[in-house]
Amino acid sequence: MKAVAVFPGSGQVRVIERDTPRIVQPDQVLLRMLDVGICGTDKEICSFQYGTPPPGDDHLVIGHETVAEITAAGPAVERFRAGDLVVPSVRRPCPHASCLACRSGHQDFCYTGDFSERGIKDAHGYLADYVVEHERYLNPVPPELRDIAVLAEPLTIAEKALLQISWMMRQRPPWLDPETPAGERGRGLSALVLGIGPVGLLGAMVLITAGFTTYVYSRELPPSPRIDLVDDIGATYVSSQTTTFGELAGKVGNVDLVYEAVGHSHFALQALQVLGTNGIFVLTGVPGLQAFIEADPARLMRNMVLKNQVLLGTVNAGPEAFAAALRDLQLFRRRWPEVVRTLIAGRFPPEQAPELILGRPPGIKSVIAFDV
Ligand code: BGC
Repeated sequence: MKAVAVFPGSGQVRVIERDTPRIVQPDQVLLRMLDVGICGTDKEICSFQYGTPPPGDDHLVIGHETVAEITAAGPAVERFRAGDLVVPSVRRPCPHASCLACRSGHQDFCYTGDFSERGIKDAHGYLADYVVEHERYLNPVPPELRDIAVLAEPLTIAEKALLQISWMMRQRPPWLDPETPAGERGRGLSALVLGIGPVGLLGAMVLITAGFTTYVYSRELPPSPRIDLVDDIGATYVSSQTTTFGELAGKVGNVDLVYEAVGHSHFALQALQVLGTNGIFVLTGVPGLQAFIEADPARLMRNMVLKNQVLLGTVNAGPEAFAAALRDLQLFRRRWPEVVRTLIAGRFPPEQAPELILGRPPGIKSVIAFDV
């Protein structure tokens, strides 16, 4: 079978031939990979700034955003059978008995750092014709989501962030009713999304769904299909090339939430300075090596304390976030059918994966499909 792999030792990214994997444990399934999305993390891995092959291997099969069809199930598999569609999660637990997070199935909160991530760290990924996986790492996908379920994993980044802050949003302001329904939690509040890539755009859709008045701030200038998309979902786009952070804050009023989806330290630090009173700042981007910047930590600390601010980093996602992402994809399609149609820029064969990952892939999300 075919797979796409990165060879850090020799600096190559190419399609390889591998044996088709086989079910060896009773709780495993054989997956036929349908769509595999490519993202910024793949780009970093393919330019050798991130990612590690499994111990003992000279290469890493990449790919961590996917939707797959079960073609065979081991005898102990209870929830799935052949023909079902699934989205597998990315992170696998560390082996340490002391890691409460991993031992309770919440490896996205792993304490030790010895977790593995499929297609990213110490475990092969999903850019292959077939993959074998344990049942417990699979999330069920309704058949009507076949064409867009590949967006579930990048959407989990925002879903986990929202799950993390929703209890804070409910419990922190003492005047709020903790029973406020999910769709109304952002009512009367302003959210600022930094970045107009897939994580930012999907994040904006989640925030609008939660009731926030949402702004998206990025370098891009119009005309741009991404900016059109921001308009179509009812958010307001502001370009950093024409509006400073200070001017932006003037437009927004109190910035109640910042959802950072760029991974750029200077940009994030500037945004932290406009975070409003009682504001929450969520960091999701993983910065690569960047130039040192000057900062005024005393001013930041002053603001954080005097304005009751929260700074939260979030990575990866658990089953609750996957379930929320699959639910929201259905909701997005009902609410913005035209937008959802344009999210996937195209499906390309695996041979094109290296150039797509290393180049500037078209549109919002480029997908590698094994049957095109
Ligand atoms: C993936 C996450 C992963 C993170 C850090 C992201 O691109 O979506 O699943 O935990 O990279 O490796």
